[in-house]
Amino acid sequence: MSVNRRNGPAGSLTDVPGNNPRRIGVLGGTFDPPHNGHVLAGIEARDRLNLDLVVFTVANDPWQKTGVGGLREADLTRAELRLSMVEAALEGHRGLQADDLEMKRGGPTYTADTLLELEERYPGADLFLLIGSDVALALDSWVRPDEVRRHATIVVMDRPGHDGGRPPSGWNYELLEAPLLQISAVEIRNRVGSGKSVDGEVPVGVADLIEQHGLYRTQR
Ligand code: ATP
Repeated sequence: MSVNRRNGPAGSLTDVPGNNPRRIGVLGGTFDPPHNGHVLAGIEARDRLNLDLVVFTVANDPWQKTGVGGLREADLTRAELRLSMVEAALEGHRGLQADDLEMKRGGPTYTADTLLELEERYPGADLFLLIGSDVALALDSWVRPDEVRRHATIVVMDRPGHDGGRPPSGWNYELLEAPLLQISAVEIRNRVGSGKSVDGEVPVGVADLIEQHGLYRTQR
């Protein structure tokens, strides 16, 4: 059975070079919404690290953002819609694939669980965990960090505006040497909320879904 078919509607066989990817990037996020910064990061990682596949895993419950004092859960766009936006964002990009495994698992999203599931799905493949430099700083706060470092090579992407953020001591990592875009989801939400255009910051399919579903019109 094909791993992609087993993975349900997200992703498509045509996106994957062969059915047996050996080097797999994992770009996890809330993607509320996905933007061109995410897409370019996936493309650069694919090309510079020679990855067969980059899975964009859509967080079910991004507990670090929805935790005490953070974003209210009610303010988060529902996961199915965030997944649809990621699918739209990645359309036509070879080897980049939206993945709903964290949504199917349910509950708070722990990357350690995601890596274990991906290892089962792709036995023997090498996993590369792609994280922005903003996220790198906080790796020690993740759940079961030892499992995270055991099951994947950490790759830090120097995100403009957060340059120089690196994992705490004790973490081995590689640095993705690539020019990236200074775009954030919060900036997109704020622009839409104040009636400004986000053309050029999100893929067209994402802009269409934001419009169709009336997302981000009120400030969080
Ligand atoms: P928000 O602004 O709501 O915090 P975000 O833009 O950071 O959202 P996330 O979905 O939280 O988007 O990010 C998922 C992953 O993508 C994280 O590892 C983050 O560091 C990385 N990332 C986000 N934006 C960029 C970018 N412009 N370039 C490179 N990596 C990025």
